[in-house]
Amino acid sequence: MQNFEFNNPTHIIFGKDTIGRIGESVAAQGVKKLLFIAGGGSIKTNGVYEQASKSLEKEGIEVLEAWGIQPNPILSKVRELVKIAKAQKVDGVLAVGGGSVIDTAVAAAIYVDDAWELFEQRFTNTPALPVFTILTLSAAGSEFDAGAVITNEEEKKKWFFMNPNVAPKVSIIDPSVQAKLPWYQTVNGAVDAMSHIMETYFTAGDNEVTLALCESLLRTLISSTDRLQKNEDDYAARGSLAWAAALALSGVCHVGQTGADSTPHALEHGISAFYPEVSHGAGLAVVNPGWIEYCAHANPDHFARWAANVWECDSVENAVAVFRSRLKQWGHPVTLKELGVEKERLGAISENALAFKLPALVKEMKVEDMELILKAAYQ
Ligand SMILES: [Zn+2]
Repeated sequence: MQNFEFNNPTHIIFGKDTIGRIGESVAAQGVKKLLFIAGGGSIKTNGVYEQASKSLEKEGIEVLEAWGIQPNPILSKVRELVKIAKAQKVDGVLAVGGGSVIDTAVAAAIYVDDAWELFEQRFTNTPALPVFTILTLSAAGSEFDAGAVITNEEEKKKWFFMNPNVAPKVSIIDPSVQAKLPWYQTVNGAVDAMSHIMETYFTAGDNEVTLALCESLLRTLISSTDRLQKNEDDYAARGSLAWAAALALSGVCHVGQTGADSTPHALEHGISAFYPEVSHGAGLAVVNPGWIEYCAHANPDHFARWAANVWECDSVENAVAVFRSRLKQWGHPVTLKELGVEKERLGAISENALAFKLPALVKEMKVEDMELILKAAYQ
């Protein structure tokens, strides 16, 4: 069992009717002028905006609103928001939305000359404004981690950075506001969270607590998604999915592991760098089963354990088949062709995915390996 340190500084407020606590949470950090960052306006129809605004107003917090964050958030938007934050001298940032909004807010919370420098450094310690989040889509785990993923649209690079100073001070998760999400967003979220867990789980540390926890979170994500497909108003299932997705990137799944092998995320980032219309979850649904098949022989016992404990299967082959059929049952694409990816782009996507030089902890990956995974996932 490896030595480890564990610290997650984010205060989570979880449950029904908790959004109204944002005002007191922001005020408690001494923030007086807040940059309020949001997406396309759905928070105005589901009551989230009203609850948050009232609560902030009650505490006398001045609010500057910035709208229009899209899925696969882009660097030019971050740069624009950093400018606004500096010019208006805000002293805190609130993200109201899913991972794309939170990641944009996190990147904008850092006072730097050029935000892209952070992504090139990857691990930074730059001072940042306090970040707060109100989550409206459980998927990315950004509400409970200390980093961001942003696409540099000019250079076609979808990269991440980590910085302990951007860990949200407070994240509010009210699963009931996710009850009316379009179904594909619920599934995308579950698949994203599953991918986050598997990328650490397969690095095969020997911390039994971590491994068993990862297996439990994976089973919970699968069963909750099944239940929500039958009944979108199943609050217990919605809450379980939300909490499992948050825990996935909280650090608990990394304890005692050798790290995370982000090959599936790198491949997905390569795909959506060329095809921004491909959602993160859909890309991951296509590449994950193929990655598992490709790597299983590198550590057969550990992959067999996953097959048995997550899918109740006697072989990895059977488990991957069950995984794919479950994705189909959830209405997910399972091939690159279904995503609209062109075959002649697979080489460029592989190179793009590898350009980030992620640690290959499960299996060494060269461009040829990446391309083989993509080719196998084509149709
Ligand atoms: Zn992700």
